[in-house]
Amino acid sequence: MNVHDSERLSGMLEDAGYVRAAKDHDPDVVVFNTCAVRENADNRLYGNLGRLRPAKQEHPGMQIAVGGCLAQKDRSEIVRRAPWVDVVFGTHNLGSLPTLLERARHNDEAEVEILESLETFPSTLPARRESAYSGWVSVSVGCNNTCTFCIVPALRGKEKDRRPGDVLAEVQALADEGVLEVTLLGQNVNAYGVEFGDRLAFGKLLRSCGEIDGLERVRFTSPHPRDFTDDVIEAMAETPNVCHQLHMPLQSGSDRVLKAMRRSYRSDRYLNILSKVREAMPDASITTDLIVGFPGETEEDFEATLDVVRRARFSTAFTFQYSKRPGTPAAELPDQLPKEVVQERYERLVAVQNEMSWELNKGLVGQDVELLVAEGEGRKDVETRRLSGRARDGRLVHFHPGGAIDREIRPGDIVRTTITRGAPHHLVADGELSAHRRTKAGDRWEEGRRPKTSGTSLGLPTFGAPAAPPATEQGCGC
Ligand code: SF4
Repeated sequence: MNVHDSERLSGMLEDAGYVRAAKDHDPDVVVFNTCAVRENADNRLYGNLGRLRPAKQEHPGMQIAVGGCLAQKDRSEIVRRAPWVDVVFGTHNLGSLPTLLERARHNDEAEVEILESLETFPSTLPARRESAYSGWVSVSVGCNNTCTFCIVPALRGKEKDRRPGDVLAEVQALADEGVLEVTLLGQNVNAYGVEFGDRLAFGKLLRSCGEIDGLERVRFTSPHPRDFTDDVIEAMAETPNVCHQLHMPLQSGSDRVLKAMRRSYRSDRYLNILSKVREAMPDASITTDLIVGFPGETEEDFEATLDVVRRARFSTAFTFQYSKRPGTPAAELPDQLPKEVVQERYERLVAVQNEMSWELNKGLVGQDVELLVAEGEGRKDVETRRLSGRARDGRLVHFHPGGAIDREIRPGDIVRTTITRGAPHHLVADGELSAHRRTKAGDRWEEGRRPKTSGTSLGLPTFGAPAAPPATEQGCGC
């Protein structure tokens, strides 16, 4: 979500006349879009600001802005600790950045503006997209849940749903620009519709994405097990361009810990959803998030997590060691666990999951896969003379670029190949390609063009094929 917010900040600044600083040039404006979810976010921010101070002293007129979750949390504390910062803006007023920069320049003093609720849905702001072939589209912001470890509700506020017509118009605009894949974004995508009274809205949205010409892959993140309904599984299985990939946070396999986390589902419900997903889509790749060492977690609780992880057969899991987030209820809980206990459990969990990921990946050897060629996903590609891409189920595949190639293969093109080896965290396809399709996204990538969406705010909450707003490189959208 923060990455997508950064695309909006870039889009707004470009619309206000700013241009991207060349790599070897000192920028006139530096914007930090901060995240408060990861540990030590504040140390890293103040460290970065400290490192930037000499550059600012040597470059009169340079401006530094800090936005995002940490700014929403720390507010004027930021300019108290780093008085060389010019602008502080929060999660609810991204759109104010150009004005605040202008005002700080004019008044020659720091501007701090934090709002308590959303000023305008962020997707009504322009966005300068980073990828020519893959795009984020927000369906909602904020969250109505109260998971005790999570700072999001405090910093992003209550859930605000975007109108389906607006979401679909943005998806259409991206598809018109050649984008092949969209990921629908929300803190809890399955709750989508709660604001306008349609609990089945998310499944309908997936089906409507299926009607958008040129759109080949639809993903979403993240669903909450409590709100996961059968109609979403049906929509996933029955809509050809919706990928058979599900990222659904489990967090813990212990019902006692789930209760303490205020996660209102239990492990049997979670596993039951996975069974239904696999029944409808036997090829589904399922991934998750896990927290180890939540306050009060016993060895028995941890064993329950290992047990669910083995039964769930996740393709991969994002595993986190619990650490306190000031301002969250869990930070105040007794029985915070010693670091060495958390570390030891974390290593055991990672070992179990790695073994599972590897076993599942080895089972894919010999399978024919369609890959969307990606940029920057294979660190060793130059050395191994391979390229990389994502399969429809989201798996990363490093492939040999030989065989049925139609001229050069570019990021954004589609290839077909056969898996020859499974590693714990990726797949390898070292045979010849059976197909290569050049795409508009690949052409755009080659020309150095990226989609620019101008923000969409159209129509009433309805479903169906949307009227497409124009989205151009200059961004005159709708
Ligand atoms: S559902 Fe996700 S965003 Fe919402 S409170 Fe829980 S962890 Fe945070």
